[in-house]
Amino acid sequence: MERLTSPRTIEEILKRHGFTMNKRFGQNFLTDENIVNKIIDSGEITKEDTVLEIGPGIGTMTRPLCDRAKSVIAVEIDRMLIPILKENLSDKTNLILLNEDIMKLDIKNEIEKLGVKSFKVVANLPYYITTPIIMGLLEKNLPIESITVMIQKEVAERITAKPGGKDYGALTVACGYYTDPTLAFVVPSTVFFPRPKVDSAVINMKVRKEEMMEPLEKKVFFSVVKAAFANRRKTLLNSLSNNLPIGKDKVKEILEVSEIQENRRAETLDFDDFSRLAKAYINITV
Ligand code: SAM
Repeated sequence: MERLTSPRTIEEILKRHGFTMNKRFGQNFLTDENIVNKIIDSGEITKEDTVLEIGPGIGTMTRPLCDRAKSVIAVEIDRMLIPILKENLSDKTNLILLNEDIMKLDIKNEIEKLGVKSFKVVANLPYYITTPIIMGLLEKNLPIESITVMIQKEVAERITAKPGGKDYGALTVACGYYTDPTLAFVVPSTVFFPRPKVDSAVINMKVRKEEMMEPLEKKVFFSVVKAAFANRRKTLLNSLSNNLPIGKDKVKEILEVSEIQENRRAETLDFDDFSRLAKAYINITV
């Protein structure tokens, strides 16, 4: 089998199948074997693992994933890629290929049908829906061990940011609630066909085994985070009272009990600060 990372091979396969790249689906195929292997290494994939790959494309990463994992569930939205995938992966008996939109697929039902107890996600994600895919995976309470994905560098920096900078925001705190994210490595746009307009990076997110909060506390925590960052240039007193259904007096009281100065900005608060705010909100208003 030819190397699927060779641009000439990619072009030949696409031409033979009369396939034209669909910009709408964020199709940028990997052309570097090293990067493919590094992504799989970052995911720490072993023969014990079931892997969910979102957007297999022509199967460049799917092939080595099948070799290194116990089984691979590959979900591809573009029906025009299915015959190509079937051809390129015809020898892989541990592959389940689904022609579905990952945003609509009932993943829980799918893995239950297959008797899969837990799985790891490995993907070179379509960039037009990076955040909804990641948040969708995290919010659905799925038995995911880890998520290792290539995404836009700028989004990777937001997810792995520390408090105090412009990259730190609601996405950072939300991903930090569910996982322990690390930026594995940066990838130049030159290793894709066609080249995307932005640089990319691979992040690895180990998913926490236990929920950190009770349902009410979690709900309030996420509302407080969203409200705080809704006007990130304003003081906390203003952004929280503008965006939460309580008056300024109550917000003042919540900030005081949480020992957070009212003139601070959301981006200076760490996870514990938001957690104290959520607890105080419940004690004072519920
Ligand atoms: N894994 C391949 C690679 O690395 O060469 C392709 C990656 S490409 C960046 C993203 C892939 O996701 C494309 O194959 C695209 O058709 C697919 N895709 C886009 N939107 C999708 C969705 N909603 N559900 C499933 N796959 C999707």
